[in-house]
Amino acid sequence: MHDIPVTRAAAHKPIPQDLKASFGDYFSDHMFQMEYTEGLGWHDPRIVPFGPLQLHPSSSVIQYAQAIFDGSKGYRREDGSIHLFRPQAHIARLNRSAGELCMPAVDPDLVLAAMRQLIDLDRDWVPAKRGNAIYVRQTMVGTEGYMVVRPSRTYTYLIFLCPVGSYYSEGAGPVRILVSETRVRAAKGAIGSAKAGANYAASLKVGREAAAAGFSQVLWLDSVQRRYLEEVGTMNIMVKIGGRIFTPPLSDSILPGITRDSVLKLMRDWAMEVAEAPIDIEDVIAASRTGTLEEMWGVGTAAVISPVGELAWRGEKIVVNGGQTGPVAAKLFEHLTGLHAGTVPDSHGWSVA
Ligand code: PMP
Repeated sequence: MHDIPVTRAAAHKPIPQDLKASFGDYFSDHMFQMEYTEGLGWHDPRIVPFGPLQLHPSSSVIQYAQAIFDGSKGYRREDGSIHLFRPQAHIARLNRSAGELCMPAVDPDLVLAAMRQLIDLDRDWVPAKRGNAIYVRQTMVGTEGYMVVRPSRTYTYLIFLCPVGSYYSEGAGPVRILVSETRVRAAKGAIGSAKAGANYAASLKVGREAAAAGFSQVLWLDSVQRRYLEEVGTMNIMVKIGGRIFTPPLSDSILPGITRDSVLKLMRDWAMEVAEAPIDIEDVIAASRTGTLEEMWGVGTAAVISPVGELAWRGEKIVVNGGQTGPVAAKLFEHLTGLHAGTVPDSHGWSVA
């Protein structure tokens, strides 16, 4: 058992009651923090009031973006209990990301205990409405102040909490997507498979252009041929063509999504035909012309399942499933949100009390 020392916040912030589609607008009263020093390892794990950090102006996170993060969710059930969804998988992915950026791994048991203790302390912040959740953000940054480009020798690791709303309960349906032919999210051989802040910085400009043109997300193609589907916004992508479901195979430019993994396991449990295989954008367009493009959807922790209603490609508008949510996306959404709420059997043991 880890008994993590707590310094309580002097005052409590008001807890938002109406979250709508809010994502990261509010932060709970406390956070978990620990430091790493080369030669000493991780030290001083503690829960403290949520607040600003002091950083050296030349720290590696500020100068060279040595920063990683991960995001998972916890859900309050009708009986009041709070369950984390696949937290160990998210901690393991953070450690993978750490390896990609020459950062130290954390102790998964300590971090899981920290998540639980923090959520227990701030339990009033965990929303009760179905679909709403407490978002659990892990972050690690390089803190050593120096100039040379090399890995930091000191780090800070944080866990903090945001009550978040459901994208769906507010009626957000299938989204309009712009296929990016120019910019890519992550290059072959780069760090796209890590949840590194730098990858998100690289996505901002196209994201802003897409938003200005009325699209909610960008569909990213591969960096070599600008031909194969990679991801959609900050989600993994799935397509149903002619009765078969496809998702791109994992690579060094694709984030190994935990929702992607859950969805693949569920679809295989249900004996659906699903292939992890490259998807050529030209095949998607051809399928839409012949009427065999049945469904397309993104999968990720934030929106869970996000149907694609429309694709813009080379000035052409491709409507998917009449702009409606298709049956596979709907079934996956119902099942996953049922697992979160504890209303369907958790045969994989994904929820952790
Ligand atoms: N791809 C990217 C680039 C992401 O940021 C995310 C969100 N973490 C995902 C995919 C989906 O991953 P997950 O299902 O683990 O949230």
